[in-house]
Amino acid sequence: MNLKGKTALVTGSTSGIGLGIARKLAEAGANLVLNGFGEVEAAVASIAACGVKVGHHPADISSPEQIAEMIAYAERDFGGVDILVNNAGIQHVAPVEEFPVERWDSIIAINLSAVFHTIRLALPGMRRKGWGRIVNIASAHGLVASAQKSAYVAAKHGVLGLTKTVALETATTPITCNAICPGWVLTPLVQKQIDARIAAGTEPEQARHDLLAEKQPSLEFVTPEQLGELAVFLCGDAAAQVRGVAWNMDGGWVAQ
Ligand code: NAD
Repeated sequence: MNLKGKTALVTGSTSGIGLGIARKLAEAGANLVLNGFGEVEAAVASIAACGVKVGHHPADISSPEQIAEMIAYAERDFGGVDILVNNAGIQHVAPVEEFPVERWDSIIAINLSAVFHTIRLALPGMRRKGWGRIVNIASAHGLVASAQKSAYVAAKHGVLGLTKTVALETATTPITCNAICPGWVLTPLVQKQIDARIAAGTEPEQARHDLLAEKQPSLEFVTPEQLGELAVFLCGDAAAQVRGVAWNMDGGWVAQ
């Protein structure tokens, strides 16, 4: 797969799935604009080791203004966004009648509205260049629900609706828009949910097993590297007519 000369912007790529996808895109030759908080230097160094150009923009993607600054940075310093991966996401677990209103608002802002803002701002550049790939990281929770995750499930279902709409609006162009729906991946986002089980008295190994056993028939975590390979495939010529799909990679979660 040769993505040499393309620039990929991956939101939330300092950790977990986003970093795994950024690495696979860099290995395929793409230059990378990283985004996210935390271990920024380590993330930049691991992409630079692939021999591609890499930058980091610190936008908080709950802010439409900061998203606009990030897209402007990619246009100014990288010549535009050819591949947009909307990956950043957060989670909060609580029954709907106890769900904190501010957590609902930030999950909708980060997991759903930010996807709208990056797409509306990056798409004109893709149209000008006559090529583009938009890959939205939704979730098995974009296809089915779980109790206590109202905001996350609503946002991820919304991402799939937005993905299909953008796929239709770009259908006659060399720009595609698709979604990937991961099952459980062992990242900080999921480790917090395992830690909550450990805090409630379950042994660590048992807590991991129980989390998988409830949803994921394979009883194995999906890896960021596997998701990265799927993203690279969706960026390639073979995927030119893959449009508007919600592609689950979930150890059998939604086959049940
Ligand atoms: P993670 O917590 O490891 O990483 C999240 C990333 O998003 C980090 O880089 C963080 O800095 C960044 N981020 C968070 N809030 C941000 C903000 N306001 N602005 C900019 N960046 C921000 O999470 P992950 O598990 O790698 O999840 C990545 C995506 O995959 C999310 O959209 C999540 O919903 C989805 N997903 C995860 C799983 C899983 O099992 N881990 C399963 C299905 C879907």
